[in-house]
Amino acid sequence: MLTLITGANGFIAAHCIAALLRAGHSVRGTVRTLEKASATVAALHAAGVAPLDRLEIVVVADPTDLGQFAPAVAGCDAILHLASAFTYDAQPGQFEQQLLLPAIQGTTVACEAAQRCPTVRKLVIMSSFAAVYDAAQGLQPGRVYTEEDWSPLGYEEGRDTENVAIAYRASKVLAERAAWTYVKEHEVDFQLVTLCPGMVFGEMIHPIASLEQLNASNRIVWEVALGGRDALPPTKAPVWVDVQDLAETCLHALTTALPSHQRFLVTEGAYDTQEIADLLREAIPTARERVPEGSPGDRIRDTHYACDAGKVRQMLGVQFRSLRESIVPLVEQLYAMEDGARI
Ligand code: NDP
Repeated sequence: MLTLITGANGFIAAHCIAALLRAGHSVRGTVRTLEKASATVAALHAAGVAPLDRLEIVVVADPTDLGQFAPAVAGCDAILHLASAFTYDAQPGQFEQQLLLPAIQGTTVACEAAQRCPTVRKLVIMSSFAAVYDAAQGLQPGRVYTEEDWSPLGYEEGRDTENVAIAYRASKVLAERAAWTYVKEHEVDFQLVTLCPGMVFGEMIHPIASLEQLNASNRIVWEVALGGRDALPPTKAPVWVDVQDLAETCLHALTTALPSHQRFLVTEGAYDTQEIADLLREAIPTARERVPEGSPGDRIRDTHYACDAGKVRQMLGVQFRSLRESIVPLVEQLYAMEDGARI
């Protein structure tokens, strides 16, 4: 199977490439510049990802342009669409250009390219728990989210908000909705699978030159591990999954015969910053010196909503590792980077 992975230089994409190659498949990855192409191959090589002769990286400068994107899809059996801006750096007034349009247009172009290419049988799109839950409802203790739930955020709310997190969540739900609208309105020859993971944590094998470039979700763990403050940071979006387990989920989504188009919630469960602190202080001597103690053992999970990820476990047979197994190697890596080691 040859799979096109968009945004191949990203945190999650690198693990997806590793999982597909390990399982005997071939990968063509898209990046936006030549520099990112060579940096991606170098980082995967350094991380021991193999065999790299079944990986090809191509440059698609603007993946929202069908004319540029479609040739990259030629001959592929599947598309795994990951490229999307996951950043909280955009400023009010820029959200439409920097978050909404690239996400929506990139997803629509992925659908159009899949439909145009006769060999493509599956399109797997990385949506998000952000496209599922309604953050405006607050913590909602007792509420259990499933694949039936949709964020109510609309285009204008994402464009006009002052809050970048709202704009990001809008970009994800609108992009996923665009894909479902596409398959509803067209007689498509491919199967659509959308994945909605919670916050994704774990060790990094993608190109990252310094801690300043740390991706948004691992930054949550780093804010605890960094220490240097009296109290632990508050917990945001308290639902998580490990990056390698998410990559395995992508592999299964691409290779498992499914009865129809599917949407999956992908999460191990709840986490909070106190749990991150407890696990790090227990496992890593440096963390014991740096991370505030907080109130060891206190958990917020009964105070907020939960997720039912039974469908992905059952239909795709995915197992999830523990928070400890995910974040301890990550923080050891981050402390090493701080000491000057580079990936
Ligand atoms: P990264 O920031 O590591 O990677 C993002 C990728 O998207 C990069 O390849 C980047 O390329 C590309 N990209 C960014 N902006 C644009 C744009 N405007 N147009 C085209 N490509 C762009 O993110 P993750 O690996 O964490 O995320 C990958 C996907 O998973 C995203 O769709 C994200 O929304 C989703 N997701 C992530 C979660 C997480 O916790 N990490 C949780 C739920 C969903 P470049 O380097 O050229 O900017």
